[in-house]
Amino acid sequence: MRLKVDNEVCQGHNRCKVLAPELVDVDDEGYAVIKGDGTVPEELRGKAQLAVDNCPEFALSLEED
Ligand code: SF4
Repeated sequence: MRLKVDNEVCQGHNRCKVLAPELVDVDDEGYAVIKGDGTVPEELRGKAQLAVDNCPEFALSLEED
């Protein structure tokens, strides 16, 4: 499972990084940057889903490998 961000849609309010800091960072302007290749380890699936569900812009998504 991979976490992805649509940079065209992200508005940069940082909520995803707060909810899933292991998976998401933000750039200098506060826009989300997915860490690594976005692969979500089993133990972080809950956090990944939480970040997806709480993005007000629907910019995050989870894709099956
Ligand atoms: S919560 Fe959504 S809109 Fe906000 S920084 Fe994260 S991905 Fe971007």
